[in-house]
Amino acid sequence: MSCPQAASRASAPPTTTARAPGALPSKGWTASAAANAVRIKLREDISPAANLATFLTSTVEPEAERLFSDYLPYNLIDRDQYPGATELERHCVQTLAGLWNADLSTAVGTATTGSSEAALLAGTSLLRRWRHRGDTAGRKPNLVLGANAHVCWHKFCRYWEVEPRIAPAQQDLLHLSAQQARERCDEDTIGVVSVLGSTIDGSYEPVAGIAAALDELAAETGVDVPIHVDAASGGFVAPFLDPELNWDFRLPRVHSINASGHKYGMVPAGLGWILWRDPEARTNWLSFDTNYLGSTRANHELSFSRSAAPVVLQYYNFLRLGFDGFRDLHARSRATATSLAASLDEMGPFRILGDGSDLPVVVLSQRDGRHRWTLRELADHLGTHGWSVPVYALPPDRQQTDVIRIVVRNELTTGHAEDLLSAVRGYLSGAIATPA
Ligand SMILES: *Cc1c(COP(=O)(O)O)cnc(C)c1O
Repeated sequence: MSCPQAASRASAPPTTTARAPGALPSKGWTASAAANAVRIKLREDISPAANLATFLTSTVEPEAERLFSDYLPYNLIDRDQYPGATELERHCVQTLAGLWNADLSTAVGTATTGSSEAALLAGTSLLRRWRHRGDTAGRKPNLVLGANAHVCWHKFCRYWEVEPRIAPAQQDLLHLSAQQARERCDEDTIGVVSVLGSTIDGSYEPVAGIAAALDELAAETGVDVPIHVDAASGGFVAPFLDPELNWDFRLPRVHSINASGHKYGMVPAGLGWILWRDPEARTNWLSFDTNYLGSTRANHELSFSRSAAPVVLQYYNFLRLGFDGFRDLHARSRATATSLAASLDEMGPFRILGDGSDLPVVVLSQRDGRHRWTLRELADHLGTHGWSVPVYALPPDRQQTDVIRIVVRNELTTGHAEDLLSAVRGYLSGAIATPA
């Protein structure tokens, strides 16, 4: 019996013999049909502006959108071909060095895809610095973290085989304290990570207090532990709203700082920053020379090719907003957050764990006692009003407490906050009226 498929295959030109595998259509669609199909697939996704779970920037003005699409094809790593993009990146690093009170003549840094890549680079520098001591063969390095530390630090520890020394959350303190940090340090501690703006409750850790405790430790024992500040959110908030707060390169013990441009730096997804006090803190070990794009260039990133567009928008934002613009935007978010927290507190059944006074983030749990409703049901109810809020358990040793977190970004106007509050009130009055 002849096989028609085999026959047609034999007579077809070689270019069409390959079959499209899996989900790939064999023939392309028109642009509008393909775009429609994409939109249909994404239509159930919530609009980022209504996503109160995220710290990420969700609105971009038209000029910025145009810049983004114009410079999307520019590869940031092609430094010879795109010297202008390289210059914008350098300018942003200098701007952050100024905002973080570094010595502008020594600070070095780079753009990353986000704070997670920045954390891996920062951790690697700390690890290298420790190894460089020379007597570390056969010893296991450790990194001191609060239980609130972001998952990127756990990734670093797992990938690089560093022991995470995690300080538990306490009854009334959900972030790392100076005493907890000091107690966990020894001669194999590569660094302490202090978070400026905890993901869990929005609070700033006492970076200066931690630095003072580590200064004492160094004076008493000779154990000299550097600090990395994970300022993913706070790095773009504190310089504008809390200029007196001493958390940055003013503290000699702070070796490096990261921040997410795509959080309070007001750039859409895809941008982080890492700065070191000086090239020695970065260590040369992170530096690789490449020559296949033109002249020999050092690069310090984990990734190689990526779009210059997010860096272009960071530069644009610095010009567009200026210091006062950033301050006004974030001050408004902080005012919205603190007033939202106060209104939720007045309702009675909530315990406020994050009141928006550091990062503009509101975190609440249920007050002790019996309730006819749960935070998860409340979150579901808010979902029916178009708001997405996450419910999660606090970190060890407070995992028995569930919380709701509302991240206030500049898109959340006071009108929106009123809508949200009335949805909460509506839910509570229904839930409390219903017999358990
Ligand atoms: C968001 C966040 C990170 C991770 O940042 P990405 O930019 O999303 O990679 C790390 N640390 C803290 C404190 C964060 O809030």
